[in-house]
Amino acid sequence: MPDVLVYALHNDGAINKNSLGAVSEAARVAGELGGEAHAVLVGGDDLTDDLLASLGSYGATKVWRVSAPEGLAQPVVDAMGRLMEDPGYDYAVFGGGLLGFEIGAGLAARVGAGVTMEVTSIAVEDGKLVAERPILGDSSISVSRYKGKGIVIGRLNAFEAREGAGSGPAAVEDANVELSDFSTRARMVTRGEQRGADVNIEDADALVAGGRGLGNADGFQALEELAGVLGGAVAATRAVVDAGWYPYAAQIGQTGKTVAPKLYLAAGISGAIQHKVGMQSSENIVAINKDSNAPIFEFSDLGIVGDLNKIVPKLTAAIRARKGS
Ligand SMILES: Cc1cc2nc3c(=O)[nH]c(=O)nc-3n(C[C@H](O)[C@H](O)[C@H](O)COP(=O)(O)OP(=O)(O)OC[C@H]3O[C@@H](n4cnc5c(N)ncnc54)[C@H](O)[C@@H]3O)c2cc1C
Repeated sequence: MPDVLVYALHNDGAINKNSLGAVSEAARVAGELGGEAHAVLVGGDDLTDDLLASLGSYGATKVWRVSAPEGLAQPVVDAMGRLMEDPGYDYAVFGGGLLGFEIGAGLAARVGAGVTMEVTSIAVEDGKLVAERPILGDSSISVSRYKGKGIVIGRLNAFEAREGAGSGPAAVEDANVELSDFSTRARMVTRGEQRGADVNIEDADALVAGGRGLGNADGFQALEELAGVLGGAVAATRAVVDAGWYPYAAQIGQTGKTVAPKLYLAAGISGAIQHKVGMQSSENIVAINKDSNAPIFEFSDLGIVGDLNKIVPKLTAAIRARKGS
């Protein structure tokens, strides 16, 4: 069957941006395969018809509602495993993130499918799905083809959420799934928040990122103020999280998070390749660096050569004045 199943995650009554991107991408390739994209949402009473149907505007034609504990991988593996057998899907797509990786890997084992992780691009060749993933520090691309069923796990935020990709509300259908004994043994005890994560950096439209050029941990205060007036969040390089200046949750790059905000403002960041791979898909990159030869200027849309300690407060004041607050 040419239809594609796609997992969508919701938080606080909204479907996250990463999942919306996965739905849009699944819909695009399903169309090329001559089929449709059907989404799966797992949760409790908060899974309203309106929330599920809203995925129609991102390209899903049907959304399966599965009543099961949220935030755990195994109940979703049970649900998607069942759906991949009946009604039957050849491919499943995930947006990425820790839960996506865990569910996707479990699902691949459950249904005997091939799995490709950190995928940045999907295409259709000879009527079959083909997944591309960057390897070797993003210097090369590895191409995966599937013999049978295939699971694609995207790199976080690699797929663009396209509102208007679908023509109207999706049909909502309840899937009655029997959970395995072992799937119900784990339970979510609590969800924690970390400093610097009040706005989820993967979902923020504006990120203000700091590097070693800040000089010390206190330097982040000015970035938090700037992020505040922009309605965004603060991110960091590995050099500064390793130094204990900011939480690991905010690290962007090869061993951190991958982001693609509308604005990525890099202050005191040199632009090492390991940092670049985590933020290069940002729509607009603005860099502030006192060294005009810093590599970050090679991939910035706007470069400001100067001392961040003078520029950042002025920028914050100017934006605040413009917003009249
Ligand atoms: C296997 C591996 C994985 C890695 N993974 C990651 C990763 O995921 N993410 C990551 O970020 N790094 C990663 N790194 C580290 C990476 O190679 C760089 O060391 C790191 O990104 C550098 O961080 P930085 O830009 O904050 O510091 P630096 O490279 O030291 O740059 C500081 C910059 O600040 C500028 N500056 C100094 N003072 C001022 C001032 N007053 N005003 C304006 N500019 C100023 C300097 O000119 C300089 O360009 C990894 C490395 C390895 C080997």
